[in-house]
Amino acid sequence: MAQLSGKVALITGASSGIGAATSVLFAKLGAKLSLTGRNQANLEKIAQECAAASGEVPFTVCGELNKESDVENIVKKTLEKYGTLDILVNNAGILETGTIENTSLEQYDRVMNTNVRSIYQLTMLCVPHLITSKGCIVNVSSVNGIRSFPGVLAYNLSKSAVDQLTRCVALELAPKQVRVNSVNPGVTVTGLHKRAGMDEEAYKAFVERSRTTHALGRPGTPDEVANVIAFLASDAASYITGASVPVDGGRHAMCPR
Ligand code: NDP
Repeated sequence: MAQLSGKVALITGASSGIGAATSVLFAKLGAKLSLTGRNQANLEKIAQECAAASGEVPFTVCGELNKESDVENIVKKTLEKYGTLDILVNNAGILETGTIENTSLEQYDRVMNTNVRSIYQLTMLCVPHLITSKGCIVNVSSVNGIRSFPGVLAYNLSKSAVDQLTRCVALELAPKQVRVNSVNPGVTVTGLHKRAGMDEEAYKAFVERSRTTHALGRPGTPDEVANVIAFLASDAASYITGASVPVDGGRHAMCPR
């Protein structure tokens, strides 16, 4: 069983979806939390849920991950609060739709900057502290990182970069006993797709279609992804590094026939 008692964890995208579920689970498992997101009201709401679950009020720090000074501030404030860092969960991300024919460079930059560059910067800044604590990193990638789907080109590229980052940094830090892994969710019911432009009706149809595009016959829940993030962050996964773990109801294994 995953236990995170006393571990200091920094979670990005904690204000919504998978990051919010991960924050509440980490709180239940005894972690000391530093939660970040942009939407302060949502962040405080999740912090209250964590406090209700564990009795300990998490530290919160708002920030725009595309702003270098905000990323620096998130790390600085977390270290000022706890003095150490054991776990980094790089969860925040965005989805944008578009093909090679109609994805603008502005879109490409937005997706790559949010989903890859910000993780790169945050990881760089946290690594010295994770080396000291012999800690670990869990990146939230996607089934789109390990399989190819038309119509979400920049997103696919960004998530395969996250998986490559996971493996490369895992190898670089293994001699220092820092583990680095990713989870690769399939369709998970959160606000991600609606934020990417799907209206209510299109989203309903998309979730319905997930019954056929996922072997287990349904989309996933944020809690199902959070469980695997917690496992990878815990000592129960002490011999796992450089892994990309699908949490996708078997979608990665499917082929049309
Ligand atoms: P949500 O849209 O519910 O949550 C996204 C989170 O990321 C929010 O907390 C948001 O903060 C934060 N965020 C986004 N952009 C920025 C930014 N520029 N700076 C700071 N924070 C930012 O989506 P999910 O929970 O679904 O997504 C979490 C991760 O899971 C993403 O990396 C996504 O790609 C991945 N994923 C999701 C899948 C799904 O089907 N839902 C499938 C596979 C992977 P705020 O709300 O405060 O602005």
